[in-house]
Amino acid sequence: MKTINYSTRVALTGMLAAVVLASSVASPAQAQTQVVNVYSARHYGALEKVFAEFTKETGIQVRLSSGSSQALLERLRADGKQTPADLFMVIDAGTLQLAAEEGLLQPVRSEVLDKAVPPELRDPEGRWYALSQRMRTIVYNPAKVKPEEVQDYADLANPKWRGRLCLRPATHIYTISLTASLIATRGAREAERIVRGWVNNRPQFIDSDTRILETIEAGRCDVGITNHYYVGNKLKANANFPVKLVWANQKGAGVHVNITGAGVTAAAPNRDNAIRLLEWLVTKGQGPADTHLPGGNSEFPVNPSAQAPKVLESLVGTGFKIDYATLRQYGKLQADAIKLLERVRYQ
Ligand code: FE
Repeated sequence: MKTINYSTRVALTGMLAAVVLASSVASPAQAQTQVVNVYSARHYGALEKVFAEFTKETGIQVRLSSGSSQALLERLRADGKQTPADLFMVIDAGTLQLAAEEGLLQPVRSEVLDKAVPPELRDPEGRWYALSQRMRTIVYNPAKVKPEEVQDYADLANPKWRGRLCLRPATHIYTISLTASLIATRGAREAERIVRGWVNNRPQFIDSDTRILETIEAGRCDVGITNHYYVGNKLKANANFPVKLVWANQKGAGVHVNITGAGVTAAAPNRDNAIRLLEWLVTKGQGPADTHLPGGNSEFPVNPSAQAPKVLESLVGTGFKIDYATLRQYGKLQADAIKLLERVRYQ
């Protein structure tokens, strides 16, 4: 398996970057090798390990080109029909929908996929499938905050959190899709009231969920919003990690959910291999939970027969409500979410 770090090439034009990648994935000596080329927005170590296992089992080499979800979408657009990518794997349902709507992904029908991935976690036309689930929720310092005070995203708009709130910046896809889901469940006006309330609390904007947790741990912030697996990963390293998590909006539509997901590109040169990898990722790739995707990253599997990582058991408790109904609207509402964030001067 070969890793190409796309972020180092992001400054190049799309065309040039495509040429660089194409030459690295299709030299004549490799012509006989079975390959699948993946554009991947995941940057967690566990992924390479899972791909190596896929290669061992199938003989298909996985070639990885990584970048942010948005950068990879730009890349796929620029590639057009010449794309070397077979599988487009990103960490945002909205980005997958946009790619699908623009005709950059192709419909795939497969019994294995339909059985392994519940309907709410895939495109009805089969253009993308979730591989793992992540919840974006509220985290707090229990020495300074009572969980009753932070039950919902709207609670963080309360002026009592002025100077005590840590958030991810507006440019990050996590912030954009969370805002899109607030618009979807509560309407544009209420979503704007909430997000404006956060901004009025003069948050510290920190472009890393891990650092948000560490800032709360250090006492320099009391509440924040992060993906659940960052708490899970911290707990894996230290069972006494002090920052706590609340599953947000349990009296409403449920906690905001997003996915790692993937779709076969419209012009995939190795379509069959891409489908095989996709099928593998939602079956064998789902376990054992603590080493495989999504387990290596403390995410929740999509396949109902797969076990969630052990570290999540204490967080899940007796279960919690998840807002699946809005997952397929993040793409459609992405532009509105970005405009809302600009209007309230979210940094
Ligand atoms: Fe993440």
